[in-house]
Amino acid sequence: MNRLRSGKNWSVDAKYLLVLVVLFCAVFLTARLSILTDMGSDGEAAFWWSNAILLSVLLLNRRERWPLIFIVGYAANVAAHIHGRDSLPVSFALSGCDILETAISAYPFAKTAEHAIRFSRPRELARLCLVGALLAPAISAVCAAPVYRLFYVGVPSNFGVHWFLSNALGAIIVTPIILSFFNNDGYALLDRNQFPEVVGLLSLMFICTYAVFHNTSFPLFFILFPPLLLIVVRLGMNAGILGICIIAVFSVIFTAHGRGPMAMIQDARWERQVFLIQVLLASAVLCVSLVSVVLNERRLLEQAARKSEQLYRLLAENSRDIIVLTDLKHRREYISPAVQWMMGWDPKELVGTTYQDSIVHPDDVPAMTATLDALKSGEPAKSLTYRCQKKDGAYLWMEANISLYCDRITGGPIGYVNVVRNIAERKAAEERLQDAYLALEALASVDALTGTANRRHLNEALEHDWHRAIRTASPISLLLFDVDHFKLFNDLYGHLRGDDCLRQIAETARQVFRRSGDTVARFGGEEFAIVLPDTDRAGAYELAQRLRQAVEALGTEHAGSQHSFVTVSVGCATLVPEPGSDPNILMEAADRALYEAKRTGRNRVIDAFNPQLSTS
Ligand code: GH3
Ligand code: MG
Ligand code: MG
Repeated sequence: MNRLRSGKNWSVDAKYLLVLVVLFCAVFLTARLSILTDMGSDGEAAFWWSNAILLSVLLLNRRERWPLIFIVGYAANVAAHIHGRDSLPVSFALSGCDILETAISAYPFAKTAEHAIRFSRPRELARLCLVGALLAPAISAVCAAPVYRLFYVGVPSNFGVHWFLSNALGAIIVTPIILSFFNNDGYALLDRNQFPEVVGLLSLMFICTYAVFHNTSFPLFFILFPPLLLIVVRLGMNAGILGICIIAVFSVIFTAHGRGPMAMIQDARWERQVFLIQVLLASAVLCVSLVSVVLNERRLLEQAARKSEQLYRLLAENSRDIIVLTDLKHRREYISPAVQWMMGWDPKELVGTTYQDSIVHPDDVPAMTATLDALKSGEPAKSLTYRCQKKDGAYLWMEANISLYCDRITGGPIGYVNVVRNIAERKAAEERLQDAYLALEALASVDALTGTANRRHLNEALEHDWHRAIRTASPISLLLFDVDHFKLFNDLYGHLRGDDCLRQIAETARQVFRRSGDTVARFGGEEFAIVLPDTDRAGAYELAQRLRQAVEALGTEHAGSQHSFVTVSVGCATLVPEPGSDPNILMEAADRALYEAKRTGRNRVIDAFNPQLSTS
């Protein structure tokens, strides 16, 4: 295990070591070559690429490796100066200026992961241009000029400018090229499908570059850019950088052989030619990077748009609810696939139709229209329960949640979004619940409003007491009483006070009829019945009177009554039932008596079998 790990560490270290060796050689050779070209002898900018190489290696490595990389870069720089016969102090001082410049250029990238730096992104390209190619070379030029003047005589006045330009061009040309090869996906160029296009476009670049730099008659610089742009647009930044390398190689070789546009310049000195080649390469690199930035931004936007489109489509298409989008004229523009399994319709069959001409139950169309109109006039999202026709013709109860949707740019409404849910099961459950409630109410024996017995219990009690009276040959009485002008009471005081009044009267009746065996029941509406077993006519009449007086004594205000308060009319009937007879005779008799009480002026008691006996 230890061996394995140490083996792995060794291989990593070996790679790092190799990087340092390559770095040393590259910085030394480029710096040496630049010094060899006798840069700055008369103020022309030659080239200074060693700082850009050092910067690239820094950006491609982990930040904890930076100190060692700086040391190696500094050592290589000093070595190149010493080898170029600069004195030790000059070598140390000028190399120090170069290291300072590289450190400033690297600083804005210190917090970006080494594998994530792309000059096809606007922020990173801007940092390279503003700091790496402007600020850092300017600062190092300001530092280097006095050093140079301190040790050498006859230094041209534009030495600083010359230093700045050669370093800035190096940063613009070299750093994006190196990073593009190491950090971008260069292998994509070898993709089999893309290969013919890669070969074709790079060949075109070859031909154009050859045409520009081989000919000695016309300075055709400008024909380099169309194929270069075509390469970037079609194949990306990497291929563009490859195109620039082609330009670099051809331009250097042919210029050295006295051909191409650089050689056409009158009095063309080598430094001037190198400077011009660098300007050309820097323009090409900037061009490629800027186009890549734009393309990249567009690609990211497209990706984001595609991703969000996919997300919404996924949501809509996997929703158990049906999602419908309509325009403002209610034409369906999109219907999610849930409509297929829920209702049997193919979404395509419904696109272009409206709720008025298909699916919605004709009885529910007005409610739908009202809902949509309300939304259009500015009301917030609404829900609506309605019936929709399935493809097989049957109707389903649905619940729609509808809202207006607006244009993202103008903010104006452009249609409706309708999320429709199948509530057939819920509706059926509600109906079952309602049936169960009614059944339960029918089974119960108590009237919910007044707490007295209900009609069902009254019938049972009357039946039971009737047969008992037959067996014992005893009298049984029934009182029916009804609140006078109660409709008017409701109209005058409201239904709620009407309910209160009924409760009060029922309570009063319960107070009057306290004997066990008596049944006080709500017969229906504002009508009550009292079954009085073992009660003769006189007793019944007497109790009926007491009830009437007790209600009167409540003194409940009733402006619609001639008495100015609530009263009741009572009909009573008493019988000693014959065997085999029916309790309905008693009921009918009491009802007749009640009718009579009403007819003769209300607030009175009438005995069915002795109508002359009447009190009020
Ligand atoms: P009458 O003296 O001839 O009995 O006149 P009325 O207005 O009482 O008779 P009608 O039968 O025309 O009206 C009965 C009214 O009783 C109708 C209804 O508004 C009211 N009513 C029935 N049940 C209830 C109830 O549970 N609560 C309330 N507040 N009012 C009820
Ligand atoms: Mg009444
Ligand atoms: Mg009535």
